[in-house]
Amino acid sequence: MTGVTDRTETAAHPAPEAAAAEHVDRAGTAQPDPRTVERSAVVDLAAIRRNVRALRARVAPAALMAVVKADGYGHGMLPVARAALDAGADWLGVAHVSEALTLRSAGLDAPLLAWLHTPGTDFDAAVDTDVDLGVSGWELQPIAAAAARRGRAARVHLKIDTGLGRNGCTAEEWPALVRAALDHEAAGRVRLVGVFSHLAVADELDRPETDTQVAAFRAAVAVAEGAGARLEARHLANSPAILSRPDTHFDLVRAGVSLYGLSPLPGVGSAELGLTPAMTLRAAIANVKQVPAGQGVSYGLRYHTRAPSALALVPLGYADGVPRIAADAPVLIGGHRHRVAGRIAMDQFVVDLVDPAPADPAALLGTDAVLFGDPATGAPAVEEWAAAAQTINYEIVTRIGARVPREYRHAGDAR
Ligand SMILES: *Cc1c(COP(=O)(O)O)cnc(C)c1O
Repeated sequence: MTGVTDRTETAAHPAPEAAAAEHVDRAGTAQPDPRTVERSAVVDLAAIRRNVRALRARVAPAALMAVVKADGYGHGMLPVARAALDAGADWLGVAHVSEALTLRSAGLDAPLLAWLHTPGTDFDAAVDTDVDLGVSGWELQPIAAAAARRGRAARVHLKIDTGLGRNGCTAEEWPALVRAALDHEAAGRVRLVGVFSHLAVADELDRPETDTQVAAFRAAVAVAEGAGARLEARHLANSPAILSRPDTHFDLVRAGVSLYGLSPLPGVGSAELGLTPAMTLRAAIANVKQVPAGQGVSYGLRYHTRAPSALALVPLGYADGVPRIAADAPVLIGGHRHRVAGRIAMDQFVVDLVDPAPADPAALLGTDAVLFGDPATGAPAVEEWAAAAQTINYEIVTRIGARVPREYRHAGDAR
């Protein structure tokens, strides 16, 4: 990966339209550098690396798992995984074995855990490629059978439900699951590597349930170790717990949204947490026109201009993952924050350039409209789009669609 113009990580973030970009497709192959990228999610891999280093420093001596499921929270699984490992992440984590196999096929051989399975999951392939497997109960038997077929031990992490009520083994069934795993270990079919659990309310700092979950987790670990488990990794913390509860760090933490520079804590910004948002969603403005007061805008005509003004057309819509209900969300155009006017459509939405009115609206044609990015650069925060869409930052970035090219910055600099 060559052709990166800006190798200094401390350099100001380049404006999306300014710096020469390295274009890497989602398989990680360098692409010809197009002169103009009309619409893109720009992903700053230097920000990913910076976030990994900041999170590792925060949790040391615990190790860091970079959670790259859901196409790296919409940022692109392979480039993010490479950047995270490059910056010192110790593990990769995904939900599905299919995601894990994609990482292995790309040549990534780091410790890798997948935790959400169905009876159709390809455990044979997981065993063949050294993918660690989360086990909540029923999976143990088919995983052990796959290991026997493949002639090598499956690496498993038993999951205890400490209160989330989603996946995980109940406290009642836990001793039996531990015993079954250790029996398989004695027979060479399984290596019981870890015990883990997932937190329900770590983003709400005043809720008592996290204490209950930590206590239940310690008890489950004690049962496993008491039964003879030799655990390499006890892990509980997600991003909110990484950032607010050091007592949840244990041997390993699983960093998802914070890896991408986004805050999991309501009302706390990325910068306050020492994190840098990695994704900027932007598009070149497709049309600008002058309209009189009272002009209706977009389907339903729910918005009317209050005064003569210029309307800018942004070529991103709900088919690109821009939430349809986010009418009134902020957009940075020509150095000023404006608002979405009227309904967001499938392919496009309109911005009313009313306050402040640009001196030369026509000059804005082809310039960038920035929906969100790093607020330190003047871009709206992804959290503002989340608020406008009545959701969380996680959902905004993970739903940016396949029609939006990902454009990678700083892919090549090693540190
Ligand atoms: C997605 C996921 C994470 C990451 O959560 P964040 O809040 O994004 O850090 C961690 N653990 C499990 C089991 C997950 O499913």
